[in-house]
Amino acid sequence: MSLLVVGSVAFDSLESPYGKVERALGGAATYFAVAASFFAPVNLVAIVGDDFTERDAEIFRGRHIDLDGLERAPGKTFFWAGRYSENLNERVTLATELNVFAQFRPRLPEKYRAAKHVFLANIAPDLQRSVLQQVKGKPKLAALDTMNYWIARTNSELRETLRHVDILMINDAETRQLSNEHNLLRAARHIFKMGPSILVVKRGEYGAMMVGRSGVFCVPAFPLEEPHDPTGAGDSFAGGFMGYLARWGKHGDSALRRAMVYGSVMGSFAVECFGLERLRTLKMREITARARHFAKLTQFRL
Ligand code: AMP
Repeated sequence: MSLLVVGSVAFDSLESPYGKVERALGGAATYFAVAASFFAPVNLVAIVGDDFTERDAEIFRGRHIDLDGLERAPGKTFFWAGRYSENLNERVTLATELNVFAQFRPRLPEKYRAAKHVFLANIAPDLQRSVLQQVKGKPKLAALDTMNYWIARTNSELRETLRHVDILMINDAETRQLSNEHNLLRAARHIFKMGPSILVVKRGEYGAMMVGRSGVFCVPAFPLEEPHDPTGAGDSFAGGFMGYLARWGKHGDSALRRAMVYGSVMGSFAVECFGLERLRTLKMREITARARHFAKLTQFRL
């Protein structure tokens, strides 16, 4: 089953203790689409400027990613720059230039409107809602990511959008900010009252936690000796998670647990190199091998 994503396609300048890159292709929807496309066909809704070349679009080719929803507008593509701390856990945003993103009004091609699986990557909550409104009927599964900026500045729009989604997928600081609760389980209870029935908390090097109807499930982050660049790890996690569920077509508890593992697998590959470089060369057999490795990592006898 195909999967619809709306979000940013961007150029990123990134600095970490392991090096730096200038204007590498990035954006939440890019990471998501590439990661998810290993599992299910993806329909991409985003906007780029006239500095986005055929060479940039190559990342999407040969991957079951439909680009009819990728709008091209006069002007520059969204640009973001960030710098990571020594332990890669903290980052500062050095620049956010909205460029063509400022006028973005997502429009779904007709063939996208029957979407059953939808991922609303981190963009303005009213744009996320406008995408959901263009989908015919209710999708089987809609998931949403957001960030501190929208939680603080457009809280009521975000809450209105949250009423229509099943899964909220955010990091721990955002969970606390949205719920005003420090404890993540209490935060989840709070968030369930806003609409979603499942909360997935992305916790960087501490892994990810899912709270839902059947209780709590945790996966570790894959232990890596030399992570290089955490940019897009959360979006790649979301791509693995939603891609797996779209492929499976069901979302009972055991499918959701496996989706958490595939999410962690994709996030772990994303951080191995700068930007999209590791995902670019990734093979399905490497994904499968790492998923097996996860099973070993977490197996024990009582
Ligand atoms: P993550 O590391 O998961 O937070 O995602 C990083 C990606 O999000 C980068 O490739 C950026 O281009 C993109 N990004 C950063 N800030 C924003 C924003 N305000 N809106 C949309 N996308 C953003």
